[in-house]
Amino acid sequence: MPVTVLARLCTACGVCLPTCPERALQPAPGHPAVDATRCTTCLACVEVCPRDALEVTA
Ligand code: SF4
Ligand code: SF4
Repeated sequence: MPVTVLARLCTACGVCLPTCPERALQPAPGHPAVDATRCTTCLACVEVCPRDALEVTA
């Protein structure tokens, strides 16, 4: 499953954007958008988010 951004926690800091090896995270209004067709659930973005705003949903 792809990761999702929890809007209530995300501060749009942008830290996660360059960590994605698949370029699945793109800037978008409010918070980054996840391209679910690209995300491999590698968890690189999850590990760097200072707000724990990225999660894997079942
Ligand atoms: S690192 Fe976390 S808080 Fe920052 S933009 Fe990404 S999801 Fe939002
Ligand atoms: S889990 Fe990996 S592939 Fe998916 S958005 Fe995060 S860094 Fe990119």
